[in-house]
Amino acid sequence: MAQIKQQDAKALAAGYSKSFRAVEVLSIVAFWSLSVAIAVKVSPYASTYPFAICAALMVGFVMADFVSGFVHWLADTWGSTDMPVIGKALIRPFREHHVDEKAITRHDYIETNGANCMIAVPVAAMALFIPLDIEGWTGVALFCLVSIGSMIFWVMMTNQFHKWSHLDPETAPTVVKTLQRWHLILPVDHHHMHHTAPFDTYYCITNGWLNWPLAKIGFYRHLERLVTWATGAIPRKDDIGLEAAIQTTVAGAEKSPNVQVDLPRA
Ligand SMILES: [Zn+2]
Ligand SMILES: [Zn+2]
Repeated sequence: MAQIKQQDAKALAAGYSKSFRAVEVLSIVAFWSLSVAIAVKVSPYASTYPFAICAALMVGFVMADFVSGFVHWLADTWGSTDMPVIGKALIRPFREHHVDEKAITRHDYIETNGANCMIAVPVAAMALFIPLDIEGWTGVALFCLVSIGSMIFWVMMTNQFHKWSHLDPETAPTVVKTLQRWHLILPVDHHHMHHTAPFDTYYCITNGWLNWPLAKIGFYRHLERLVTWATGAIPRKDDIGLEAAIQTTVAGAEKSPNVQVDLPRA
């Protein structure tokens, strides 16, 4: 196996600027305001459609897990930290996390949750436009609005759950450890599967429920093959170095059903 060349943790951590932090604060305020607005919009319907609302809340929780895995896979696999905007906002924190997985436990509320709020804000704003008063469609519209509202809420909570999964057992609050033990939020051992080089599986970090089925069907390997075929890009090249990236991609494909790769030689 080729040596995995990871990036410098200090350089990655230094990429967190004051101006970016200001944008994060604004995103957090905007996110909470929009969430309250969605709750206010839904509340008059709660007594008429309790089951639709409960089902939608659950669907949103599962959707958030999928989104967390998909975005995490994108940031771990493609692009580099010096790309404009998303390099700093999205890719840097994920790459820093592989090099120094305890750094997240030292991040305050803003650094932990700001970026996810940034992603959630435009979706929350658009969801507010879903009309609930079209005759015959109220139940469906309500289900859509609550699913999306629930999804963005859990997406926003994702990095908090992720941070908790990296706390030392002595410092983790009892309620957090109980939720992890019941697998209602991302459990510690479960997430450890992702932190094993070459960091190419178990990307979902909200509750982790979708990790096993997605790994079983080779979901990310199929997508990587498609992206490589369409663009020529090599998965994980920027994160772990070209040679290791090629070797792990070939090894990953061999473990997944019906995935073939055609990559250049290192
Ligand atoms: Zn990762
Ligand atoms: Zn982690």
